Amino acid sequence: MAKGKQIYNGKAKTLFEGPDEGTIIQHFKDDATAGNGLKHAIIPGKGALNNRISSHILTQLEAIGIPTHFIRSLNMREQLVRKVDIIPVEVVVRNILAGTICKKLGLEEGEKLPEALLEFYYKKDELNDPLISADHIVTLGWAEEYELEEIVDYALRINDFLSGMFAAIGLRLVDFKLEFGRIEDEDGFVSIVLADEFSPDNCRLWDMETGEKMDKDRFRRDLGDLIDGYEVIAKKLGLIPQDCTVRKENGDVDEKLFERLSLIENKYRVA
Ligand code: UDP
Repeated sequence: MAKGKQIYNGKAKTLFEGPDEGTIIQHFKDDATAGNGLKHAIIPGKGALNNRISSHILTQLEAIGIPTHFIRSLNMREQLVRKVDIIPVEVVVRNILAGTICKKLGLEEGEKLPEALLEFYYKKDELNDPLISADHIVTLGWAEEYELEEIVDYALRINDFLSGMFAAIGLRLVDFKLEFGRIEDEDGFVSIVLADEFSPDNCRLWDMETGEKMDKDRFRRDLGDLIDGYEVIAKKLGLIPQDCTVRKENGDVDEKLFERLSLIENKYRVA
């Protein structure tokens, strides 16, 4: 599929105009960043794994009635999505204490919360994505009150569903970040959809038995090879055969593996 012109180059993804009006091609890069870009590395295989994991999870979410921007996966690194008007708010859902909340509030990592904790951050790199309240979102006009209610409802349903899905494969969903956008249909009706991605870049997943961290904390905190962790997640989700590895012996991504996987996918795809 021919890509249109580049419209955005982010830390982990590049966006191109899609083939039809209102579509975008989302390209997953191998770049890993942490600390708002202060730490950076190119990790071959990360883009392909995130594309595959995110395509799968957004498809599962659509199946339980959460509207998303995802249309279909195109190739190893790219997916076709609907163009949305992004709401400049990052929604973080926490089940277990980890990351910035521990640092900021002096809390112990690993403690289970009695119920899911929702946080909102203003999406503004220059300001380091500051923590904001629901009132900021409505009063400053980033979303209407009814839109925010819908976003909160979606975030909690996503948490319930994905916590169960990951628990079933031995992974604890510790926390994650979501982004939402608005989309307008032919009749001018505007609705909220889940946008961006859901991958180990923006969630924490711990092995339920060993406590091993399988997500981007491996990179942020130098805890081990990032691809090894992401590969475990993809294998547990059944997205990569158990006996395969995404990297060849020389460290390059095994493009043939992804080609083969997409052929299998296409064979079973219902038109
Ligand atoms: N997160 C993210 N993008 C951000 C900040 C956080 O995807 O800009 C995710 C992060 O991967 C984690 C959750 O949101 O799963 C909570 O992150 P936290 O606030 O602890 O910040 P972090 O420790 O990731 O800087």
